[in-house]
Amino acid sequence: MVNPINNTLAKTLSKTLISLALITSFTASSEAVAAQEQIALTGEIKQGGLLVGKTLAQNTVSLNGKAITVSKFGDYTFGFSRDDKQSYQLVITSVNGDRVEKTLTPEKRSYNIQRIEGIKKSIMQPNPKSVARARQDSKQVKTARKVASSLNYFAQGFIPPIEGTITGVYGSQRVYNGVPKNPHFGLDYAGNTGDPVKAPASGTVLLWVPDMFYSGGTMIIDHGHGVSSTFLHLSNSYVKQGDTVEQGQVVAAVGKSGRATGPHLDWRINWFNVKIDPALVLKVKPLH
Ligand SMILES: [Zn+2]
Repeated sequence: MVNPINNTLAKTLSKTLISLALITSFTASSEAVAAQEQIALTGEIKQGGLLVGKTLAQNTVSLNGKAITVSKFGDYTFGFSRDDKQSYQLVITSVNGDRVEKTLTPEKRSYNIQRIEGIKKSIMQPNPKSVARARQDSKQVKTARKVASSLNYFAQGFIPPIEGTITGVYGSQRVYNGVPKNPHFGLDYAGNTGDPVKAPASGTVLLWVPDMFYSGGTMIIDHGHGVSSTFLHLSNSYVKQGDTVEQGQVVAAVGKSGRATGPHLDWRINWFNVKIDPALVLKVKPLH
């Protein structure tokens, strides 16, 4: 989805462009202004949505006053959490100080309730040793998701990691053995143990741990600028931490390790600590 331009500012900038064209023959600066006339974005402005934008590499981008990294190709990204109720001011500033702004208000969504029975008592009421392990796991995951690399693979679109029926969606309120727990943030695909899992986008393997307490075999792949994929409950990995992976490359195998009732793939997307809906990420189309 490409959003409409901010008309008033566009008009103002057109005038600037005309006057610039009259006083100078520098095509570079005319282009800079021309490119400022619109904000090019793809992705859904919804709770759980990831937005990918393109501008000139030398422009600066901010969201509610916070700087957003722009790649050397002009790509940038940000996302909205499950219950995000804020409005955002996206501002693009060119080197000569011209600004374009756009207000983004993520559309509200409603989430379903999913009841899951038959979780082992050892998982539902973990012993102190398991609690400590789970805490360590979560620290490792948080650290990996803080990585802000300059990779720009997030801007090249995503593919589903496996071909499979979707059995669980993002945002569902989960009730385990009758006890309400945290919402589910992944997209669950049905699969058999050993089924190949592909990298949804190219990137670098940030983490592979075969036996996390809740999530079992857990892999995190960095796609750049804080965007990462996480796979849970894996039975095997074919890559290791630090490896570079290509979109579509088989990186792991489906499993049922950790808190899983059966073999399936749970795929998650993050923008730093913001949990994004992978189903919406699949709709992000590359901008050129
Ligand atoms: Zn899941």
